[in-house]
Amino acid sequence: MAPPMSADSFLDALLGEGLTIVQVGAWRTHNRNHKGPWGPVHGVMIHHTATSGTADTVRLCRDGYQGLPGPLCHGVIAKDGTVHLVGYGRANHAGLGDDDVLRAVIAETALPPDDEANTDGNPHFYGFECENLGDGKDPWPQVQLEAIERAAAAVCRRHGWGAPSVIGHLEWQPGKIDPRGFTMSSMRTRIAGRLA
Ligand SMILES: [Zn+2]
Repeated sequence: MAPPMSADSFLDALLGEGLTIVQVGAWRTHNRNHKGPWGPVHGVMIHHTATSGTADTVRLCRDGYQGLPGPLCHGVIAKDGTVHLVGYGRANHAGLGDDDVLRAVIAETALPPDDEANTDGNPHFYGFECENLGDGKDPWPQVQLEAIERAAAAVCRRHGWGAPSVIGHLEWQPGKIDPRGFTMSSMRTRIAGRLA
């Protein structure tokens, strides 16, 4: 059970991990807190955007779209490794997922299959949307993968979590495929190495 860190602490953690940050508008107070809880937080969720073009991607993640209002994450990790902060607080990114997975994340044990959509993940996960088409062909530049590693590690370090607290959307919600193009187990290995 951890309360979310403050927006300033979140920014400080990311900067402290060596990331390049762009602060978009009033990101600190752009959230969905009026629609439900934010916290307790238990982990970090990684996504791909299925979009291309950083400006359009950041705008979409900040504003959302018809039927899914933004913010759609906290930070957008662009192909050049820059992290664009678009919101802070409850965000529409995790959606309904598997309570067994949430329990495994809390315990930092091996993940069970995500075969239920019975639990709202939006209170419980920090979310990073990563700019990629998600078609299995769009490349993931090394600088972007390193930024994902650093961003996830930054949050874990502040909360005293290990790499098993970082999951992909595809490990949370049945039917989701993101992120596609690298494995979450490989990313967790990188994060664990950084945290060590
Ligand atoms: Zn996703």
